[in-house]
Amino acid sequence: AKSSGRNNFQFYSGEMNRAALERLHLEKEMRSAQDLGQYQLYFQPKYSAKDLTLIGFEALIRWRHPTLGMVPPLSFIPIAEENGMISQIGLWVLEEACKQVYEWKKTFNYAIPIAINLSAYQLRSTTLLSEVNAVMQRYELSVNDLELEITESVAMRDPNACIGQLNALRIMGVQLAIDDFGTGYSSLSYLKVMPVHTLKLDKSFVNDIGQDQNDEVICIAAINLAHSLGLKVVAEGVETVEQQTFLVENDCDILQGYLLGKPAPSEEAKQFILDAIKA
Ligand code: C2E
Ligand code: CA
Ligand code: CA
Ligand code: CA
Repeated sequence: AKSSGRNNFQFYSGEMNRAALERLHLEKEMRSAQDLGQYQLYFQPKYSAKDLTLIGFEALIRWRHPTLGMVPPLSFIPIAEENGMISQIGLWVLEEACKQVYEWKKTFNYAIPIAINLSAYQLRSTTLLSEVNAVMQRYELSVNDLELEITESVAMRDPNACIGQLNALRIMGVQLAIDDFGTGYSSLSYLKVMPVHTLKLDKSFVNDIGQDQNDEVICIAAINLAHSLGLKVVAEGVETVEQQTFLVENDCDILQGYLLGKPAPSEEAKQFILDAIKA
């Protein structure tokens, strides 16, 4: 028992070292990723549930590394949050997304809003407001062209500070959404005063529609709650027709997921707009 205990320990510490080394390597590579142009935005379409018109995109960051391959955001965004690099990455995402709105508007004469994900760091930042304002002016964006998504858990970490920041953004005309709704612990009293327009129902609930009655009940309850607070609901992670039908029947407002469109680089995402214009 003693020796197997030690083996376990060695195995565990070996794993720890490997994870720590990997992280160090990622951090080092991250330092030059932006200058080397390794970051890229993908765009995933969002559709109105009732008639499937294209209503906007969500921008999702991708890191294409020459030897590590495609590094998923959940592998490097949390590290960037910890070491502060998120502040540069966040600014880059904001800039790129607004530039894309501007370019599509010019190309298609079609205003299509883009949502970006805000990090905890950005939400706390005292310069966020002026940065958003500057970039919106630079690309001549109007009200409704830009949406910011804040995860429920980040919003609830310091709800009072968050409400202040969101209020100022809302006054500027930015659309606001609570992301991953249902996975954090928002109290109803805070939800009531959060100055957001939209709730994004987490994909873990959408995932089990048709299989787990509890999740179906949660979806319906979340939709009703949002509507009674005057908010729209986006269902994320819609992968099957069955999920789509269920969500439409239960009055969900907006659908997003692989069934309707996967995140794609700008050149491919353009096709979603062309299809919308044709329809
Ligand atoms: P999120 O904001 O909840 O984004 C939705 C995630 O679900 C994306 O993963 C998207 O590709 C994926 N997804 C969309 N439709 C489906 C579907 O039908 N089925 C399944 N299984 N997945 C679907 P992704 O792109 O890997 O991003 C993961 C998370 O990383 C995001 O979750 C967001 O929290 C974060 N993230 C991504 N881009 C950024 C960014 O620019 N800034 C910040 N701060 N965070 C970002
Ligand atoms: Ca999101
Ligand atoms: Ca989400
Ligand atoms: Ca479940």
